[in-house]
Amino acid sequence: MKRKLRVKFLAGCILMIAGCCFLLSHFTFSDEKGFISNTNYTIKACEYSMPTIVLDAGHGGMDAGGVSISNVYEKDITLPIALMIGDYLTDYGYQIVYTRVDDEIEWIGEREELQRRIDLAEQEEADYYISIHLNASNAYDDGVYGFEIYSDFRNEEITQLAYAIENGLNGIGYTIDRGVKNTQETYSLYVIDQNTVPALLLELGFISDSDDFNYLNSQEGQTNIAQAIAQSIHAQLGE
Ligand SMILES: [Zn+2]
Repeated sequence: MKRKLRVKFLAGCILMIAGCCFLLSHFTFSDEKGFISNTNYTIKACEYSMPTIVLDAGHGGMDAGGVSISNVYEKDITLPIALMIGDYLTDYGYQIVYTRVDDEIEWIGEREELQRRIDLAEQEEADYYISIHLNASNAYDDGVYGFEIYSDFRNEEITQLAYAIENGLNGIGYTIDRGVKNTQETYSLYVIDQNTVPALLLELGFISDSDDFNYLNSQEGQTNIAQAIAQSIHAQLGE
């Protein structure tokens, strides 16, 4: 009797193992051959979209921003650079939203204008917000020049992106690197600290410095800077 039970038990075990193997092989078989699971993967791949990035060309309209010694406005340098960064990023597959694509903005006041720009980022459910600016010193050619990047260091991911862009700009070597700065330690910047979307503000150089300005105002300089920024963003986010 005992022996019979043992035989039955063993037979049961063998059946169970065989059953499991069958199910497993059946599952594997249909996973490899079955269109259903393959289709699911395809749908998943289609649903994945590249990040949405807001590119904010600083100033615009009656807000000129800084002014060069030769009377060129900051707003007219930030715009082509932002548009070019957008072109490169679009080629990489990113979704780009611009806060402006020309000089036509309905000016309703500085704070309201900035709020409108960050509202746009929220409405578009953007992943990142990058604001493009030029710095200005107290006097022309007073020896203050270089680029700097502002980030809220409490957000590690966006700060890593800031360092990536810093490296990219250093690769051109057009001016000195004034560093990546923490808005929690320097001063608050509206488009970073009031933004619901992780944001950076790039000060690409001093419009008040002749060397920085000449480079930033040139076609070659703008192209190199836009390309370096787009490549850095893609190296950080897209690969
Ligand atoms: Zn500015």
